Amino acid sequence: MIVNADLHIHSRFSAATSEKMNIRTISLEAPRKGIHVVGTGDCLHSGWMEEIRNCNTIDEGTYELNGTHFILSTELEDQRRVHHLIYFPCMSAVEDFKDRIKHKSKNLDKDGRPNIALSGEEIASIAKDVDALIGPAHAFTPWTAMYAYCNSLNHCYGDLSDYISFIELGLSADSDFADKIQELHRLTFLTNSDCHSPHPVRLAREFTRFEVKEPTYNNIKKAILRVDGNKPLLNVGLPPQEGKYHETACRSCYTHYTLEEAQRRRWKCSCGKRIKKGVKDRINEKANFSETKHPEHRPPYIHLIPLAEIITKAVGQQNPFTQTVTKRWNELISAFGNEINVLLDVAIEDISRATAPAITEAIQAFRENKIIIHPGGGGQYGTIELLKEGEVLTVFLGPTDKQTSLLDY
Ligand SMILES: [Zn+2]
Ligand SMILES: [Zn+2]
Repeated sequence: MIVNADLHIHSRFSAATSEKMNIRTISLEAPRKGIHVVGTGDCLHSGWMEEIRNCNTIDEGTYELNGTHFILSTELEDQRRVHHLIYFPCMSAVEDFKDRIKHKSKNLDKDGRPNIALSGEEIASIAKDVDALIGPAHAFTPWTAMYAYCNSLNHCYGDLSDYISFIELGLSADSDFADKIQELHRLTFLTNSDCHSPHPVRLAREFTRFEVKEPTYNNIKKAILRVDGNKPLLNVGLPPQEGKYHETACRSCYTHYTLEEAQRRRWKCSCGKRIKKGVKDRINEKANFSETKHPEHRPPYIHLIPLAEIITKAVGQQNPFTQTVTKRWNELISAFGNEINVLLDVAIEDISRATAPAITEAIQAFRENKIIIHPGGGGQYGTIELLKEGEVLTVFLGPTDKQTSLLDY
């Protein structure tokens, strides 16, 4: 069967997250986005585990509520500040892991995404001992990420490098960028939202589509390892240019620079503040190939813009969190089941019968790729313009909800 999975979210127990990140709300919102499997996130946090335990048990490593399946996952930060994603086979593996790291963490039950005073290699070794999968989160972002502080997988994970089976691309990169780096060719790429809010512009703004026998931990694991006929079929995410750190830019005034200019200026902007290296330039520094070469197993990557963002511009709203946008979004979801159907699958004539002409035109412009992207950088999201018959609709990709500004890549 085919399942869509968002395997990196944060609960209300993580810093800078929405109070609405409770298991019930997530379980109800995921299907409306077209998502079947969600990584719980924050599974080292006892409070969040209480909520997970109240779900129905499918098997030792898979929980269910309102039709949404959950697998046990967490993100944590190592002593270098690199973020790692971990997927656990069962609750007892989570408990074993916690026992082994608790003396190295001061905020294990305070923050859903704890800091652990161990190296990437030590953490990977403990993950391996409890039979969990581990890999770098948002691997290319200019801080809290593997390539921000390490030159290679080996630099980050040492002798455990061979045990790493996946990397998460993050919002500012896609497969075309990541496959310029040869050491990543053997890995499965995950695309996840890393969301801090269940709003439809956040939850599942990136996801991975898998072919699995069943929507359970064991099968998702096999799909990540690409064994027994289970495998990733698609990576889906924002155009990488929209990411906050796609290009090299000033963190204060957001002036963009080429890598050479930034180096010449010793990373100091004309406004006096620091310039932050963008994901595009970091990948080009690490690239082994000037032209992307995909390995045989790499699935296609599809770029999606959240439907609420498209509606926002079509109806002339300032941001996607207004009642008007929510009403229009709900209308389309009730008519066609979920967001992926609306964005990709339903015939445009059918959409036109269910919504306003301006929204139909905007969805059509998106489908026909009539878009111009102004890249993000320095912590500011990129913007997108949808072109429709002589008119330009600019889509701003936030960060309009202040709760999700800081940690939300
Ligand atoms: Zn992170
Ligand atoms: Zn500046």
